[in-house]
Parts: sequence; C-alpha cells; structure tokens
Amino acid sequence: MNRILIAEDEANIVSFLEKALRKHGFTTTSASKGQDALELALSSNFDLLILDLGLPDKDGLEVLAELRGQGQTLPIIILTARDDINDKVCGLEGGANDYITKPFRFEELLARVRVQFRHLQESVPQKENILRASNVSLDLRARQAKVEGELVELSAKEFFLAEIFLRHPGKVFSREELLDRVWGYDYDPSSNVVDVYVGHLRKKLGNDLIETVRGMGYKLQV
Ligand code: CA
Repeated sequence: MNRILIAEDEANIVSFLEKALRKHGFTTTSASKGQDALELALSSNFDLLILDLGLPDKDGLEVLAELRGQGQTLPIIILTARDDINDKVCGLEGGANDYITKPFRFEELLARVRVQFRHLQESVPQKENILRASNVSLDLRARQAKVEGELVELSAKEFFLAEIFLRHPGKVFSREELLDRVWGYDYDPSSNVVDVYVGHLRKKLGNDLIETVRGMGYKLQV
C-alpha cells in the first residue's frame, strides 16, 4: 500500500520527488512519457499516480482519460505548472482525485498523498470489492463482470441487478423489490422489465445463476 508512480518529464522534479517520497517510506517508479506512464499504470499494481499534465508525447489529461476509460481506479493526483482553472476542472471531471500546482512545497504534496492513502485504507479491502457466485465474479470498483475469468459486457442496470443477487446469496427478491431497487419507485409495477433483465443475466452469466421462486420472485442459486 505504498507504491507510487510518478509521471513527470522534468528530471529535477522527478529526483526531488523520488528522494523525498522514499524518505517517507514510499516505493517510487517514474516515467517521463505519457505512453509509458499509461502502460505502467495499467499493467502494474500501483497505489497512486502523480501525473504531470505537460508530458512530451501524450498530454496528462489524455493519460487520465484513457486510464479511467479502461476502468483503472487508482487514485491520481495531478501535478502541473498550469494554473489555468479549465485544466483543474477538466482534471477533476476526468476522474483525478486531487490537484496540485507547481511550484509546490513537498509538505503539501505529502499531505495530499497521505489523504489518498488514508482513503484507500478506509475503503473496503480489495478482495471484498469482488463478489463471486459459482463461476461468476463482479468487480465492484471496475464495474466489470466475468464468467470463468472472461469479461462479459453488462449494462449498468444489468450489473446493478447482478450485484443485488450476489450480495445476498439465497435471499428471495420479489419483482417489486427489484424494480424499486434498480429502476426506482416510479416505474410501472406491472412492467415485466425485471423478468426481461433476469433473462439477460441468465443469457450472459449462465442459466443456473438466478433461480425463479414460483409465486415469489428470484434468488441467487446457492
Ligand atoms: Ca512537464
């Protein structure tokens, strides 16, 4: 829980950050190009990314967008000389967790890094972010479903419905309850949308996953 990736092209800033962060017990890796940072962040297990916006090959905001687009959820602190408010808004809307403007004091960066690590530690441990039932797994952070380890596309509502079943193995849910939870109270209670979506889940995640309980509703097969 202390691996930091630094994406920054100014060598003096990199060496300053690496030295200071290591002194405080963090492990650091650095990348001077956006593409390298992107690949490292996607392929390795880092706990935090410090991301400069002005990188030579690929803009930091693009790196950010690609990471979030691919479901990478690691905390990202943007570090940049640009103090333009538009960049801040873009960065935060693009999924950055925090923002720090150069020149900065190391103590300020350290404080912000620690806030991110505190959030990580307070959130549910990694393994509990994955729900499993037979050969199906749901990654709640990346919002990804897998069957036998293979990714399966689910819509947001399908995922939410599957999540409800996997969170409560064996519990019987009535159609009304599922309708309320997934589609909201103002949905027409005579709608067959729940049955249609259970059908989708059976097709995508396996026929036996969700059992029909006659006259009552549905439950996860245990
Ligand atoms: Ca730069």
